[in-house]
Amino acid sequence: MAKKTIRDIEVEGKRVLVRVDFNVPLDMKTGAITDDSRIRAALPTIRYLVDHRAKVILCSHLGRPDGKVVEELRMAPIAQRLSQLTNLPVSTASDCIGADVEKAASTLKEGDILLLENIRFHTEEEANDPFFAQALAKLADIYVDDAFGTAHRAHASTVGIAKYLPAVAGFLMEKELKALGSLLTNPEHPFGALLGGAKVSDKIGLIQNISDKVDLLLIGGGMAATFLKAQGYEVGLSLVETDKQDLAHELMEAAKRKGISLLVPADVMVANSISAEATGEIVPIADIPTNKSIVDIGPKTVELFSQQIRQCQTVFWNGPMGVYEIPQFARGTKAMVELLASMKATTVIGGGSTAEIVEEMNLTHKMTHVSTGGGASLNFLKGKSLPGVSVLLDKEK
Ligand code: ADP
Ligand code: MG
Repeated sequence: MAKKTIRDIEVEGKRVLVRVDFNVPLDMKTGAITDDSRIRAALPTIRYLVDHRAKVILCSHLGRPDGKVVEELRMAPIAQRLSQLTNLPVSTASDCIGADVEKAASTLKEGDILLLENIRFHTEEEANDPFFAQALAKLADIYVDDAFGTAHRAHASTVGIAKYLPAVAGFLMEKELKALGSLLTNPEHPFGALLGGAKVSDKIGLIQNISDKVDLLLIGGGMAATFLKAQGYEVGLSLVETDKQDLAHELMEAAKRKGISLLVPADVMVANSISAEATGEIVPIADIPTNKSIVDIGPKTVELFSQQIRQCQTVFWNGPMGVYEIPQFARGTKAMVELLASMKATTVIGGGSTAEIVEEMNLTHKMTHVSTGGGASLNFLKGKSLPGVSVLLDKEK
């Protein structure tokens, strides 16, 4: 069921606490923000609230302070960046709960923005402590969740707080739920899923849930080795999850029964080692040397996968096709990014590494949707309900 959003609730003059995901990467030496896309992703919600004369209180975690104050993980630099991006003053607080913060929140005027201190400076946050959640709730009249990336975790600022305040979705949350939700409920067919990444075991739930919806399933990345081995091919030193071979076999049989085309690579790049010095060699899957391992899909496979993907009206992609961190093993992955970016079809990308590559290639804007939540997007597509989403108010029919 669709969730209420900030459009469905009166925000004018109200103190609105927004859980955002400002967990941005920082330069270890200088403390500078190296990528502010997570801050930019929250701007539509923040702008709407400011324009509608709400008193905006933002709250996020940053890094892993594990319940202690860590000076390098204070929110002040983020407030500065947010202020630059919005062209508005953004004030900060010395903490995220307590008398001082309550006072700061209660003296806010319409359109003001206050960014609370790192919420994970308190152990109670990740423990979803009810007293802590209540203390947070005291700051506001309305709770908004715009942090899709943490919606799979039941913390005080994502779940606990919703017990004490009316809880609705922000625009980023809404966009994620719409884009990922339509894959599961009403994708335009043909619908293809391109799956890669390191291991089958990380993705079993995803593969099983999505294979009931798709017309086409393409398997690349490290997990292809387990499928190839299950078909009887020699895969050399590639990691094979022996206990997942039966499952791979079952998935291939089930695909046949259901009339889904499930394709594995036809050729692969192999190398002596997974290192920056190693050079790759292209071989057909029938000729994988016993002393080498698969590091990427080969050019014939790129061609084969591309032909199939071009037929689709909807494409979902999770997991790199090869060890993309090493440039000479990144060709297959890059070719798939370029292909999807060039298509008119609905293209949805999930998974941390996969989104990172698309961003690195500056092609995020060419995709229909690149999820900001790695683990959250995978859990959602597994068919699991996300605790941070469940607690939000349902839209009336
Ligand atoms: P995502 O974060 O997008 O969900 P994963 O975490 O499942 O993706 O997988 C990413 C990792 O998979 C990368 O570190 C990449 O090096 C690895 N990988 C891809 N192909 C292979 C391969 N053939 N052998 C070993 N590792 C691989
Ligand atoms: Mg990953």
